[in-house]
Amino acid sequence: MTQSNKDLSTMEMPVMCECGVWFDLNDGYGKEDENVTVCESCHNKEVDAREFWEECETEFLDGNFRMLSWNQPFASLMLHGKIETRRKSTNVRGKVLICACKKFYSFDQVKNLSCDYQIGDLLNLFSVISYSSLQNKLPIGVAIAVGDLINCRPHTLQDMPKSFVNHDANLFSWVFENVKQIDPFEIKGKQGWGFVTEDILNKIRLKQ
Ligand SMILES: [Zn+2]
Repeated sequence: MTQSNKDLSTMEMPVMCECGVWFDLNDGYGKEDENVTVCESCHNKEVDAREFWEECETEFLDGNFRMLSWNQPFASLMLHGKIETRRKSTNVRGKVLICACKKFYSFDQVKNLSCDYQIGDLLNLFSVISYSSLQNKLPIGVAIAVGDLINCRPHTLQDMPKSFVNHDANLFSWVFENVKQIDPFEIKGKQGWGFVTEDILNKIRLKQ
């Protein structure tokens, strides 16, 4: 966003923020760790990032911050409101580090799991025209998001659009909310639940 000259002329002390936007130094905010003044929008982002990390830290200190791996493209779909489906029910609730393991489902595997319109939605969401472009686009072997697991219940027909798989009465819907993208970092994927270690916690940064 750039501001007009008129805006600039009304500023007492116009300065350019590190994000490239002009702001009045009188309306600026000091950064938390550096002696730099930034615009309101950058300040708000910094506050969001700090609050997000503090939430993660609290959950970690409570011993309730878990991690789980997904095969792509389903890991990245979690950032688009996917209802996760698994064959097992779970009583786990709380923060989950969402990791994309090294495995990418082949097109045939996705065709077995999902119906045509879901595959169409999938390609549209990531603005690609083919499944092979998707395979080149989505990250693997990295942690990509943090979300809250809030519910688990049998899969319903109504869950189909958001789960991106065909209805199956033997499936369970794992409902996440508040899924936020983080700066991706490399992680060893493994089957089933793991716990976030302090080392991993310290790598988590909200994507800006
Ligand atoms: Zn700024």
